[in-house]
Parts: sequence; structure tokens; C-alpha cells
Amino acid sequence: MITNKELLTAISAEAPQAFEFLMGLVSRASLRGEEGPAQEFVQAALEDLGFTTQRIAVPDSISQDPLAGVPFATYEGRFDVLGTTPHSSGRTLLINGHIDVVPVNELTWSSDPFAPFIREGWLFGRGSGDMKGGFAMALLALRALRRLGSEIGQRNLSFLSVIEEEYTGNGTLAAIRAGVTADAVILPEPTNLNILLGGIAITWTKIVIRFGGGHAESSDRLASPAQAVARLIDGFSELEVELNQNVPTTYDEIANPFNVNVGVINLGEWPSSVPAVAELEVRIGHPDSISDEEILARVRQLVGAVLTTAGNPQFELHLHGFKAQGYVLAGDHPLVHSVASAHEAVHGFRPESEIMGSTTDARYYVNQLGVPALCYGPIVKNMHGSDECVELRSIEIGAATLARFMIDYFEH
Ligand SMILES: [Zn+2]
Repeated sequence: MITNKELLTAISAEAPQAFEFLMGLVSRASLRGEEGPAQEFVQAALEDLGFTTQRIAVPDSISQDPLAGVPFATYEGRFDVLGTTPHSSGRTLLINGHIDVVPVNELTWSSDPFAPFIREGWLFGRGSGDMKGGFAMALLALRALRRLGSEIGQRNLSFLSVIEEEYTGNGTLAAIRAGVTADAVILPEPTNLNILLGGIAITWTKIVIRFGGGHAESSDRLASPAQAVARLIDGFSELEVELNQNVPTTYDEIANPFNVNVGVINLGEWPSSVPAVAELEVRIGHPDSISDEEILARVRQLVGAVLTTAGNPQFELHLHGFKAQGYVLAGDHPLVHSVASAHEAVHGFRPESEIMGSTTDARYYVNQLGVPALCYGPIVKNMHGSDECVELRSIEIGAATLARFMIDYFEH
């Protein structure tokens, strides 16, 4: 039996290599469509740990799957990475992490987002927190177990590194369609060492309005596209208020679970023309009781109403990216209990369980496969924002929890 002291000592000894791996992973900028080098790096790390690896293609036909998000571009040449260990009798475990990181605007970063560095115990860089720090945490747990001569992690364990968690979920969906699953799934997403049990439904829409444009000299006689867009933004704020009026009890503890975020506005060409075209991209959080098609219809109505006051220009709108269902793993599920107990055994207190106004790929396992899946991972700051960073100490603590959990999981 491995004691907690032995485990923590092994983790401390292996931590420098795990942090070096994390630096290497962050420096491989895995923005959407550019995941290849980071995936190859993960594949090599898994092989080094004794996993047999393979690449899983994400077919373009995934877009026909009713559970898929709407792809942005082809998946040709892009792939998930799967590491497996020999299977024997007993239960199986899958660790699922997403390799993709969200876009950056370097104007608001203090330094190059893809030149990671460590300062005062935090590692900075895009993806350091969401969720490459989780990769480092999981691999650190496995390295520590190997150092202790443990067979845990040598059997019945799979590690899946997926693309496009941040846009569609199609990487995980493709792996599931290829038969990759297990009796339980842990996603080492950044949860600040709490247990994340669920999320909301999310639909993305893109709206294109063709105002037609004109000379700035005539702007006093033309409907103002800028003012129309401002009224649209107000309309989305009103939609958000409406969506949060009857919140299902599942989301009771979140102050405003269903955020409507106008994430992109492109308007106009240059100062001396009335804008010809406006493009908006909006992320709409909502309860499962409203379908993505109903959200689309609601947005169409909203845009149509606003544009009647702007000369009724042509517009089109469509779904793109997320069409995610909400999901919740029951807080009293044995998997939750096991992870909480492992955390408590190593750190002396139980982690909190929570549900957030966002989503993760855990939804596919919980909703479609009936497989328990939860997120547990490091402490982070500014995820999706500027100067994103992960606390290195929390990677060690999380690794200790994960190693202890795996010992219990595989030995019973
Ligand atoms: Zn994430």
C-alpha cells in the first residue's frame, strides 16, 4: 500500500519534469486548426509513460451527427490522440483532456502568450490553465505511481487528448463514435481543485446583416447600422434577463447561469462610409428545455424586430460551433464520492462540488453513454482571458488526489 507520504514525495520528485512538459505543451500553440504539434508532443509523452498510442481521425461527416457542433472548417489532418494500456478484468478509467486553446488578443497580454514562463509559483501562457495544466497534472500522477513501482496506471487506463472542446465538442464525439469510452471518465479541467459536476446548454449563433452602405455625407439620411447594432446588443441583454427568469433547480446555486455573450462584432469598413455589413457572433447559455432551434428562432425574431427600425436590411443567421446540451452528474454518485475521498485523504478536507454556467465534454459521457464523468483539476487565473496562468502547487496537489483516486479505483 502506497502511503500518502510516499506519494507526495514521489510527486515532488517528478514535478520538475511535469512542469517542463507543461512549458513545452504551452509553447506549442494549439489554436483551432493548429493542434498537430501539441498532439504529437502529448503522444510522445504518453508513449514515454508506456501507453500504446494511436491517432483518431475526426471525420468531416461528424457534422451530420445530431450531437455534433457545427464545424468551422475541415477536420482533414487534425486528430485526437488516444493512449491505452493493456486491458484486464476489472473496471476501466478514461482520462479526457482537450488540447485546443481559445484565441488570444496579444494587445492585452503582458508578454507573448505562447512563450510560457514561471513567476512566483504560477506558470503563464495561453492554455496553461485551460487545460494543459490538467495534462501535466494527470501525467504527473502517472509518473509518480511509476516511480513508486506501482502497477496502477499500467492496466485498464486510457488517456484521450481531443481537439475542439472549446468550439464544438466534436473531438470527443468522434472518439466516442470510434468506440472510446470506459466505466468512468475524469477530465482534468481547471476546477480550482473542486469537483465540477455539470454545465448548461450552449448555442452559438452568427448573424450577418447587409445594410448596403453609402457615403458618410449621406449618413444623416440613412438608418444607422451602428445604432441598429447597439439596439441588438440591448436586445441580447433582454434575452439574457428572460432566460434567467425561470432557472431550473439544478442551476439554483449559480447567480445568473444563462449568460448571453456578444463575443464578436464586425461593423463597417472605414470612417467615411456608412457600414455596409455587420457581423455578430453570440454565445447563448440556456436551459435544456429550450432547443438550439428554438434559440435560433428567438434570435431571428429579435433581429427582425430591431431591423424594422433600420430600414429592414437583409440578414441571415445560422448556428455555428456549439449546440451543447446541459448535463449534470448526481452529486451523490460513487465516482464523486471516490474523488472527494481521495482529495480528503491527501489534503485533509473535502473539495466542494459545483455546477457552472459553461460546458465541458463530460456532457457526452453523462448524457449519451450514461458513463459517470466529472472534472477535477488545478487552480487557475484568467482562463479565456489575458495573462492566463496555473498554480504549480495545485498541479502537484491535484496529481496526488488523482493518483490516490486511481489506486482506490483500480484496487477495489
Ligand atoms: Zn477547458
